[in-house]
Amino acid sequence: MLMPRKPLFLDRDGVLNRDITPYVSTLDEFDVFPWTVEALTMLDRAGFDLYVISNQQGVALGITPAEELEKMNARMQSLLAPHGFQIRKFYYCTAKMDEEHEWRKPSPGMVFAARDEFGLDLEGAFFIGDKDTDMECSHSAGTRALLVYSGVSYPGESISWGCPPEKEFPTLLEAARWIVSKESGRR
Ligand SMILES: [Mg+2]
Repeated sequence: MLMPRKPLFLDRDGVLNRDITPYVSTLDEFDVFPWTVEALTMLDRAGFDLYVISNQQGVALGITPAEELEKMNARMQSLLAPHGFQIRKFYYCTAKMDEEHEWRKPSPGMVFAARDEFGLDLEGAFFIGDKDTDMECSHSAGTRALLVYSGVSYPGESISWGCPPEKEFPTLLEAARWIVSKESGRR
């Protein structure tokens, strides 16, 4: 039986690529982790459609040119293209923190925008992030939060968070392996 494809949401900085302070603001600074393509390919093959959900207030602050975000998207897609798939859409909240934009994480607005745009069923969907605000966004969206330590968080830290993750992994690669092993066990 053909299984329907499921959505999977990914934070960008610290999950797909190295995070830097203050912002990943140019294509030169967009340093994709060496395991990212393998991890995303595993998820694609396991039946997941991938959506990036990322705060980029550097744009509103005048640090990150909006066209650089587009170049980073193109770089990511060019890395995935040889494997026959793409990120379905990159959602960015470019508003400043103090604007309290409904898209800005920890609010779930970008996940809901993806749901509405693509008619997604969020039931049981995974959200992979590296920060407490990602976990809170996932909780508010009703998705399953997974934390990776390749960004700003470290083991043990999430115990004090209001919205702790369901599970934690060193990187996206281990998270992808865990998801795929669970999914294959269900068939
Ligand atoms: Mg991040």
